[in-house]
Amino acid sequence: MCKEKMSLAYITNYLAEREKLFEVRIEVNSTCNLRCEHCYIPNHDNIGLSYDKIINLLYQLRKIGVYDLSFTGGEIFCRKDIFSIIKKARQMGFNVTLFSNITLLDENSIKELRELFINKISCTVFSLDESINDQIMGIEGSLKKIIQNIELLIAYGINVEIKTVLMKKILIVIKIYRNFVKKEKSIIYCQQLLRKRMMAINQI
Ligand code: SF4
Repeated sequence: MCKEKMSLAYITNYLAEREKLFEVRIEVNSTCNLRCEHCYIPNHDNIGLSYDKIINLLYQLRKIGVYDLSFTGGEIFCRKDIFSIIKKARQMGFNVTLFSNITLLDENSIKELRELFINKISCTVFSLDESINDQIMGIEGSLKKIIQNIELLIAYGINVEIKTVLMKKILIVIKIYRNFVKKEKSIIYCQQLLRKRMMAINQI
């Protein structure tokens, strides 16, 4: 088989053309330890489906050929059973991506995560200026914890995707942010939309 036909992009397109479900994102809870200014979740009070219901869902998804699986919240690490859910998903052969604010992780949980061979963990940094970042996230010390955990995740060989949300108050630090991402050899999630919005804001 040629290289192109083995690529994830080729397989995704092939299945999309045949209307086969390949990629699924599951919101496992809406509870969260942060209160970000821009958060779209009105009440952080839903603990999500039970462990058994999620595992049952995973079996059904696997049966119909789903391969790419993302877990998001709320904050997924507010769930005590999230490691068991990820483990089960990996045992079932899913390619697992995690969306998290990563503030609840520590070295032990990162070590545990390393053993699960996930695809990547995706987090958000709003600004490298602590006062801006922490004000947006609503908790003092958030940036410090996030940077510390990004460094640990990278040190333990886990792919990290760092995103940001475009707000006027963070535009001035985007350049510094880009340099940081380059330095940390992380994957930058650069949305076309973000660029378009930046251009639009620059024209105001
Ligand atoms: S970390 Fe995510 S879920 Fe939690 S408050 Fe911020 S935006 Fe909302």
